[in-house]
Amino acid sequence: TMAVYLQALGAPLEELLWWTEDMLVSGTALRRVLGVEGTDRPGRGQPHGREIVVREVRYGYTAGREVLHGIELRIPPGERLAIVGPSGAGKSTLGRLLAGVAAPRSGSVTVGGAEVSELAEDVLRGEVLLLTQEHHVFAGSLRENLTLPAGDWTDADLLRALTAVGLAGWFSALPEGLGTRLGAGALAVPAAVAQQLALARVVLADPHTVVLDEATSLLDTSSARQLERSLNGVLEGRTVIAIAHRLHTAAAADRVAVVEDGRITELGPHAELLRAGGPYARLVEAAVPVY
Ligand code: ADP
Ligand code: MG
Repeated sequence: TMAVYLQALGAPLEELLWWTEDMLVSGTALRRVLGVEGTDRPGRGQPHGREIVVREVRYGYTAGREVLHGIELRIPPGERLAIVGPSGAGKSTLGRLLAGVAAPRSGSVTVGGAEVSELAEDVLRGEVLLLTQEHHVFAGSLRENLTLPAGDWTDADLLRALTAVGLAGWFSALPEGLGTRLGAGALAVPAAVAQQLALARVVLADPHTVVLDEATSLLDTSSARQLERSLNGVLEGRTVIAIAHRLHTAAAADRVAVVEDGRITELGPHAELLRAGGPYARLVEAAVPVY
């Protein structure tokens, strides 16, 4: 497999093989150069481009109860799309399908023409990453919490990511910097900080597409707004799909998709949808769930 990857780089093979002897000593550096990670999860397909296309997607968790009823959506590369709608409408389910965590019962979700749920683990990781509301801080150092399982960043990278998610102040007060132990029996991490740490991992992973499912829900409105501004800078050019429960997130997006009862009932820019006086305007007016 190594030779295959090296040939794919288009350099003379002998030269590269010589060069890799040195690199093999530090295997992680080699993997980073080649973009190859350790897992061998079977997968197929290779994206050609970054457009995400959702076609006629139906999905249900249990037989006989469909929760998405034929979703159609095209997300151009670099778009910031907000998904809003009442609780239970199917937003998180759609997020899981967009990120390839679940496969549609019928229809397709593709990125660059390849079925997202069928991509090999290492390919998927570079394409799309889902951040849900569940955040885990495990017993270990801050550095380990940021870099496991695939840690290959410099301390400067880690500090940049912490700053991007608004944790520079929190970090500066830590007794042992990146070596500070977190979790059970060590430094207690408030839920909001755990959420920011999860976002820092997303910043470090830097995939083409990020799906954020209420990723700033535990922060107060002004911190969330600040963090989102900062993330917009860091994730510039990436596709960002934000399942949102705050008005400012939807207002700052390029387009808003309203999901109600497993269907997209409205799609367009915030201002346009407000003027239209339809489902989105009603959600905003009712302050549910966009507040
Ligand atoms: P939202 O994120 O818009 O609140 P969800 O996508 O979480 O909505 O849920 C859509 C529907 O799917 C709801 O009726 C919910 O009860 C159901 N549902 C969500 N997760 C599961 C699950 N793991 N098993 C069974 N039903 C689920
Ligand atoms: Mg949800």
